[in-house]
Amino acid sequence: MQMAEPQQPRLPGLQLFDLGIVNDVLDTAEFQDLSIDSALKAVETNRGPVHPGLRTWVRHAVIQYFEAHQFLWDRDCLRLVPHKPKWVVQYPREIGFETPILEVAAWGRRYCSADRQVRELRLLRRRSVKDRQRDDSEIATALYVLAHGRATRGRTRFDLPHALVDTVEQPRRLRVVEIGCEDGSVNILDDVDVDGARQRYRESGQHRAREVVQGGGQRNPGSSCQKCKLVDGCTAVPRADGILGIVERRRPRRTWSVTNGRAYIRCPAQEYLTRLNLPRASAVEYGESATRGQAVHTWIEQNHRRQPVRSCTAAEAPFADSWQAGPWEVTGSQALLGAQMIGDHALVCPLHHLLPDSPVGVERTVTAYDADANVVVIAKIDLVYRDGPACVLREMKTTEGTDGGDPLARYPQLSLGLLLLAHAVLGDGSANGRVELERLTPAGPVVESFHPTNSDHMEQARQVINNLAASWHADTTARAQPGPECHRCAVSQWCPEAFMRPHDEDY
Ligand code: SF4
Ligand SMILES: [Zn+2]
Repeated sequence: MQMAEPQQPRLPGLQLFDLGIVNDVLDTAEFQDLSIDSALKAVETNRGPVHPGLRTWVRHAVIQYFEAHQFLWDRDCLRLVPHKPKWVVQYPREIGFETPILEVAAWGRRYCSADRQVRELRLLRRRSVKDRQRDDSEIATALYVLAHGRATRGRTRFDLPHALVDTVEQPRRLRVVEIGCEDGSVNILDDVDVDGARQRYRESGQHRAREVVQGGGQRNPGSSCQKCKLVDGCTAVPRADGILGIVERRRPRRTWSVTNGRAYIRCPAQEYLTRLNLPRASAVEYGESATRGQAVHTWIEQNHRRQPVRSCTAAEAPFADSWQAGPWEVTGSQALLGAQMIGDHALVCPLHHLLPDSPVGVERTVTAYDADANVVVIAKIDLVYRDGPACVLREMKTTEGTDGGDPLARYPQLSLGLLLLAHAVLGDGSANGRVELERLTPAGPVVESFHPTNSDHMEQARQVINNLAASWHADTTARAQPGPECHRCAVSQWCPEAFMRPHDEDY
């Protein structure tokens, strides 16, 4: 008989769910009647210290929340008070001889009136909700829980059904509100009686709930895999154990991409605060040549998305000294150089020999799970196409100067592409596939190829990716590294180190 492997205890890591901490601080402030700073301190004593940048954000979010709370209080005189226990709907479901309990709950902050006739769920959002799109099925499910949920009793282990109080309350008015923690904005999403809640659920919520229970619905592997308990056995996420060259399964599961690796080298705090998806400064400025690079990339990408598939031709390149692709506008010498690069690309366009119905993946996101490191690896590939049976990954770079050094180190996406092929993450055609680097330069286009069957390429690729991921993986502090990067850092508003630049005068 085979013995099950004992579960290894998790190593501590950085907090990965900021709104969970915001919610804890709000709970502590509301139920223990503490000031925001005292509540924050109490939560840190309880959960362990949080990253200084995260602490700045949490404090801001809590202040904004209380402003929104005051707005609601002044607006409608409902005088709702916070309600600690969750509201949960339970029902048994027959599966063979077993009858497991299924639960429907909604994450948010709960409030009710003193006579228990009004129930409200407040959904916390990171960003402003001023122009936020509604999610009708989320609202309908929240209303259903408000209408039929019973309060939980005591604490329950996360893998067991909740114990519920015996009393069945019958609220009459149900309201779902969303609050933007960035600016304290408020949307009243719905305000109905019990019949209205039932109707909404029938119209918009039931279908989604059924999909979840039956395991149907579309699976979109990506950053959400970080929180999913099922990733280990999910058929939508191929396994690539060892791809990062790290053997340490006890860290909390995270996602990783080459972009994360590079951001971490610039500043670990920037990588961490960006990973938390905190509100960002919108206008991070691009220099002239970076804008031209984006414009060229977007122009060619739009060509490659055409259906039926067509290759690029030089005649389609822009010819004016001012042109635009997507949001990227270029003028003068950069426009002329960009136009030349687009024309040059036509000489080496990988779609020339493809049939009109050939499968082509433009800006394709590839996700794989490395169980050895407990990391979901995400790669965004400029173009994936087939050369006969072989799978080819093409990365395109525009460069003005000479591009010295080893391409696998200079462009780690190439190294990751090779490793993805070696782990057969892209399916058939991986073993005889290749990674291509297309460089568009003022002197013309250059295409180089790298093969998973080439042991030198593979050794270099393994080293590049391990160097990029290993320090990040082991880091539990994400220290700020103030420097020139602070000027272009989209999360600097949350970073207490941002204004402590020791060599500011040098920049
Ligand atoms: S402001 Fe500077 S130190 Fe702070 S996270 Fe951004 S880059 Fe790092
Ligand atoms: Zn092309």
